[in-house]
Amino acid sequence: MIRRWQAFVTRHTGLRAYLDAPGDGRRAPVVPARALLWALLAAYLVRDGAFHAVEALVRSPARRALGIRRPFGDDTVAYFTERLDVPTTRAALITAVRQAKRRKGFDDVVRIGLVLDGTTVGRCASVRCPWCHPIIVPHLTEAGERSAVGHVVGQHHKLSLLSVVGGVLPLPVDLEPYGPGDSELAASLRVLDRGVAALGPRFAQYVLGDGLYANAPFLHAAGDHGLRALVRLKANLPTLFAAAQARFEGTPPGGTFEDHGDRVEVWDADDFDPWEGLRWPTVRVLRYRQTHADGTVVEAYWLTDFSAHRVSSQTLYRLAKGRWTIENQGFNDSKTRYGLSHVPHHHANSLLIHWLLVVLTLTLERLFRLRYLHRGTHPPLAAMQLLRRFRLSLGQPAPETG
Ligand SMILES: [Zn+2]
Repeated sequence: MIRRWQAFVTRHTGLRAYLDAPGDGRRAPVVPARALLWALLAAYLVRDGAFHAVEALVRSPARRALGIRRPFGDDTVAYFTERLDVPTTRAALITAVRQAKRRKGFDDVVRIGLVLDGTTVGRCASVRCPWCHPIIVPHLTEAGERSAVGHVVGQHHKLSLLSVVGGVLPLPVDLEPYGPGDSELAASLRVLDRGVAALGPRFAQYVLGDGLYANAPFLHAAGDHGLRALVRLKANLPTLFAAAQARFEGTPPGGTFEDHGDRVEVWDADDFDPWEGLRWPTVRVLRYRQTHADGTVVEAYWLTDFSAHRVSSQTLYRLAKGRWTIENQGFNDSKTRYGLSHVPHHHANSLLIHWLLVVLTLTLERLFRLRYLHRGTHPPLAAMQLLRRFRLSLGQPAPETG
């Protein structure tokens, strides 16, 4: 199975040239870059990307299955990632996503979206890179309340992730770390600019974000890229939020429909005034109330510049729900399963390469499992089933990691 995956990645993802020349920055390397890259991707794929685990992999009989000639140590992996070229690695992710579209990976999707989201990863003891943020535990007052002062208990790292969403294939496109003094919003604007430029015009039709993105600079940036925006409306836009609540609450819904057994009611109006600084002529606001079978209710407000003539309330609801797809399948998957949160080697370039290769692996696993293996009418393999086959094909035991 690992051989089939390698053959798929080589032949069907547009990455052949990248695999041969991934941007090796070492002087006089002994171990070929290609071997190091395959070993890293395989280690991430079987969800054990610590560099000593990479070493264990290539010192085991699994090396043969991977087509790697000779073993190497974790220090070689560390040195390789310290010097691997970041733009080349980013370009590989873009190539994989563009190739997925070219191979009709999104053909059953009416609208392709981009999703921006931030997360915190990689806890460390001390400051070693420009993206280290101190983890501060506030001191308690005599009354047991949190005081304004605290002490630093370690460091962690913050990232903005850009993903493509639509159909069964949420795929990470790029990510951008940000240090103290920077912000998720600024990092997201940079990754959006870079991602849209790299994906090419008209790849996606809209961009999704949470309440953090409900501000004029972000909405204008989306518009400048030819994208519609759909962002969560919360109390951080008090005037618009109050106007929408006043309009919708206490009035019957404009529509009702079913979503996987849940009852969904929607309120939708496209004639709200823009706030000062927003250059939209009007703002459309959608409110939905989703009642689960057990009686629990989820309610949310969203704002958008999608035209009500072109995109129905129900479609808008479905697109907004894509936000949670990315929450579950973007960061959660890459953090809990693929080791995005680990710090294999606390060095700026190495860490950024680690993050990028984790999301590249996740993209390549999804394309392989959901598109390549899943041809025909049989249901796709679950991630866990495929993981077990990968581990067995490497001659490794298959622990149940859930
Ligand atoms: Zn750091």
